Amino acid sequence: MSQPAIVIHYHELWLKGRNKRFFVSKLASAVRLGLEGIPLDKIERPNDRLVVRLKEGASLEDTLSRLEKISGIAYYAIARPVEADLQALCEAAWAEVEPLSFATFAVRAKRSDKSFAHRSSEIETVIGRFLLDRLREAGRNVRVKLNDPDVTCRIEITSGPALVYARKIPGSGGLPANTAGKMLCLLSGGFDSAVAAYQMMKRGAHLSFAHFYGTGARPGESSLHVARGLVRQLVPWQFTAKLYRIPFESIQREIVRYAPESCRVLLYRRMMLRIAEVLARRDHALAFVTGDSLGQVASQTLRNMVAVEAASNLPLFRPLVGTDKLEIIALARKIGTHDISVEPFHDCCPVFMPRSPALHATAAELDAAEAKLDLPQLVRQGVAGTALESYRYVAGRVESAEVPLNRPKEKQDAAIA
Ligand code: ATP
Ligand code: MG
Repeated sequence: MSQPAIVIHYHELWLKGRNKRFFVSKLASAVRLGLEGIPLDKIERPNDRLVVRLKEGASLEDTLSRLEKISGIAYYAIARPVEADLQALCEAAWAEVEPLSFATFAVRAKRSDKSFAHRSSEIETVIGRFLLDRLREAGRNVRVKLNDPDVTCRIEITSGPALVYARKIPGSGGLPANTAGKMLCLLSGGFDSAVAAYQMMKRGAHLSFAHFYGTGARPGESSLHVARGLVRQLVPWQFTAKLYRIPFESIQREIVRYAPESCRVLLYRRMMLRIAEVLARRDHALAFVTGDSLGQVASQTLRNMVAVEAASNLPLFRPLVGTDKLEIIALARKIGTHDISVEPFHDCCPVFMPRSPALHATAAELDAAEAKLDLPQLVRQGVAGTALESYRYVAGRVESAEVPLNRPKEKQDAAIA
């Protein structure tokens, strides 16, 4: 009985009636995809958990680090495989609980293999008694508490070797990947939009990414490498992703030339949304995601956010709207995007930055500010310049490829109109 098994517990919150099968099968396929390349037996689904049995040669360390990026796991445990025999179970249970410090404990047994001679309640009593005696002999001041104990030693009698575990490792939480529908994330390169993307993926959304970039002060210096790095870092959460790259400088120049200076940044954002809307519809995405946080910068006053959003016909979600920068940075560190975003890059938005940006614009004012711009033409120009990269997370590695962008013309025009 050498290789351990991983027992995965999911959040019960989303187990609502008929949803259960859908979510559990999505979680099981995420676990299968996420652990691809690691030698495993089949993934079992007894009752309210998943059991992954590792085969000879499987690296436990690799398995655990892959599990960190699988959404929908409340907690998991590394379980000892044991011969299904009461004495062997007692010894394994002791080996599990002995190193833990606690005041109260319980033993919980589940028997999905009914051929085992003892009932669950009997297994619980025998092992509980055994542990209590041993713990007391070792001078530990502990007691059994069935309701909300500090430590629960779990025994699973399944058709394979029985499993014993007591130490819970917190999972990533959230909902299983790709259960909520599609969205398009406006990804800048800064801290915020990458974290916003993570928040939505964690809730089961599948995102495509749109990145608008300038050419940079020097050749080769742009924000593209940062956006690519961020997508590579984020894609494991949802397994596949598209990155649309849109050269934006010529459009910005038009805005600078024909629109009032104080509204520039807001008009850049509105133009980004209009172009992104064509891409979103192409992907059948239902909404946008951005990294805006209320009041963080001039373009994110409440009025400005409302005035910018008016340019879009799709709903726009801002998961970080009520979050402080410090909280955002802490999350960025946790998900590994911080060190990518922190790299210096040429951000296209501050280009031609107005000396005093408008703080409280209205949609009507921005409409007026855009009066001299040929909006449909600028959208067409943006879409025509767009290139597409496709990313895939497979066997623990991220692959990417350039993909031709075929755009049915009618759809584009419908979205622009
Ligand atoms: P971030 O850290 O995401 O850059 P920020 O606080 O710096 O956010 P802004 O730069 O004002 O704020 O951008 C607000 C949001 O607009 C971003 O979170 C992102 O969703 C979107 N955005 C800004 N610039 C770009 C860009 N070049 N390409 C795509 N989206 C962008
Ligand atoms: Mg930014």
